[in-house]
Amino acid sequence: MKTGPDRRGYYGAYGGVFVPETLMAPLAELERAFVRARKDRTFGARLAELQATFAGRPTPLFRARRLSARLGGAQIWLKREDLCHTGSHKINNALGQALLARQMGKSRVIAETGAGQHGVAVATVAALLGLECRVYMGVEDMRRQRPNVDRMELMGAEVVPVDSGSRTLKDAINEALRDWVTNVRTTHYVLGSVLGPHPFPMIVREFQSVIGQEVFSQFRKQTRGLPDLVVACVGGGSNAAGIFSAFIAHERVRLVGVEAGGRGEGAGEHAARFAGGGSPGVLHGTYTWLLQDAHGQIQPTHSISAGMDYPAVGPEHAMWRDAGRVSYTKVSDAEALEAFRMLSETEGIIPALESAHAVAYAAQVAPAMPLKANILVNLSGRGDKDLEEVARVEGRAP
Ligand SMILES: *Cc1c(COP(=O)(O)O)cnc(C)c1O
Repeated sequence: MKTGPDRRGYYGAYGGVFVPETLMAPLAELERAFVRARKDRTFGARLAELQATFAGRPTPLFRARRLSARLGGAQIWLKREDLCHTGSHKINNALGQALLARQMGKSRVIAETGAGQHGVAVATVAALLGLECRVYMGVEDMRRQRPNVDRMELMGAEVVPVDSGSRTLKDAINEALRDWVTNVRTTHYVLGSVLGPHPFPMIVREFQSVIGQEVFSQFRKQTRGLPDLVVACVGGGSNAAGIFSAFIAHERVRLVGVEAGGRGEGAGEHAARFAGGGSPGVLHGTYTWLLQDAHGQIQPTHSISAGMDYPAVGPEHAMWRDAGRVSYTKVSDAEALEAFRMLSETEGIIPALESAHAVAYAAQVAPAMPLKANILVNLSGRGDKDLEEVARVEGRAP
């Protein structure tokens, strides 16, 4: 299928630009800069150099032999985004957008963050490129993710507590948008997933598509074929979009996105927009699938993994879902925890709880697939950040 946005920023019925008038010009400026950068060889060379020497790319493709043997079915392969600098795929987008900010002559970057992974990635590249950096973070998230606040501050970023609404990611995005409107001449807003008004979903997917491009040829080299199934977790949807983008045109490769099933089906118990009763609506500048009540009020969400705890999903995923090209399912907190343990024990790889959702789904379907079938899992991040949360959930810590 054909993918990507049309000229107005729509993915079929989804996407678009639902923002106050004051943001229309900066969004248009951003789109022009991005289109220019994409054709600019110097920009491409600089990005490639930093991906290699700073972010640690290419990340390896790893064959999980012991995990596959334990499950007794399809072979499982892991794309090791957990080995990226700062511990997740978030650096791919942060690096690209920070270079774009410099190209646009901006001296300051701002970002929103939930768990802090995106904030850390942006603070990191801001230090690298000498940009002033401010990160908006809900006070509730700051309390839960203190080590990430310390990391950002150590690298010279100012972390601004957001005390409105639910004091989490959704409110931090609102504050970041407000800052951007006020300071747009000097400031670029580094949005962290394939969300928000056009051109953000397009830009973030482009910078994350390095995952898919690399693994497509790595997989070819190691197996001479294509995977039968590609699995990725879906918070906003950037790591999934990054790996899926290379396989979308290959219709015989099945693509599955895994949402956060949380601890139940009720409102506020999960963050499954497609697989858990969401519907289309507008949030943060884009028309896409959301968790909302009958009056269009955004519902609270829950996931054991902070990176998937968000009420909306990127508009391109909504298009892929409607077209039947990608299927979306959910995995519960408990199933993700089990996979977190299983991968640690069988392979010596501690996955991020987000990534553990994708591993859990692969572990569910592998046993019923033939031994010669191949499942490719995007391991979006490492789990060191989650040890404390896991101990707390399992009652071993306060
Ligand atoms: C932020 C994050 C996610 C979720 O974000 P996407 O945009 O859906 O990729 C998944 N995994 C890790 C490790 C993260 O830090």
